[in-house]
Amino acid sequence: MIRLKQVSKTYKNKVTALTDISLTIDQGEFVYLVGQSGSGKSSLMKLLYGKEYPTQGYVVVGSRVVNQIKANHLHLLRREVGIVFQEFHLLPQKTVYENVAYVLEVTGHSTASIEEKVMDALTTVGLKHKALDFPSQCSGGEQQRVAIARAIVHRPGILIADEPTGNLDPKTGYDMLKLLHKINKTGTTVIMATHDYSFVERMPSRVIELNKGKIKSDRSKNHTLLLYSMKTGDYFVV
Ligand code: ADP
Ligand code: MG
Repeated sequence: MIRLKQVSKTYKNKVTALTDISLTIDQGEFVYLVGQSGSGKSSLMKLLYGKEYPTQGYVVVGSRVVNQIKANHLHLLRREVGIVFQEFHLLPQKTVYENVAYVLEVTGHSTASIEEKVMDALTTVGLKHKALDFPSQCSGGEQQRVAIARAIVHRPGILIADEPTGNLDPKTGYDMLKLLHKINKTGTTVIMATHDYSFVERMPSRVIELNKGKIKSDRSKNHTLLLYSMKTGDYFVV
């Protein structure tokens, strides 16, 4: 479970990215975090994986109050959370297999357990056959799938994806969306930030919409209706 209670975030440069955010996300939910660029999506996600701390309020992830976690305990939080970014951040000198295994190696798993987990993750993302290739031999979509495999290889309860389709063409982006929903079906909570509202229409789920750092709307799957405004040329959630 994730809970934010009256959370605000003001950066050192006095920019307030989030104001009075309260929300609860249950285990197993798929949540779209939408809003225009600068609305605070990445800031909210950074609070969930302990990259930033709230200026006010509480952030609870699983059984942990994140704003009380000491820097040397952050790895415990990271065990519960997998993260995917717009950029794939793969290590170019390592193979697909090694890129995914790396996280487990530094946390001291046995070789046999690493192999099983890595092959499981690569199977989930449909890339078992690319295990021995290097990132440069993979397409953009494949590289993002390697990044997703790396994010889920330690079987976290929560997967955070910050604009995971931002560097992909629409078709590949849709494949990625389907993959994230597939991972969600296994019980993993998925929170996906996107400014592309058309995804919501294609695979409806709960939508939390941010506007200038505040929650503008929070709608469950059954209530989500996406409309196209002729006036602004943009989608909006009602
Ligand atoms: P989004 O992901 O929706 O584009 P962000 O969370 O990245 O939004 O940004 C929200 C606001 O916070 C913006 O005004 C941005 O400039 C500001 N901001 C984000 N990160 C930092 C930072 N590390 N330091 C100062 N300001 C930041
Ligand atoms: Mg962002």
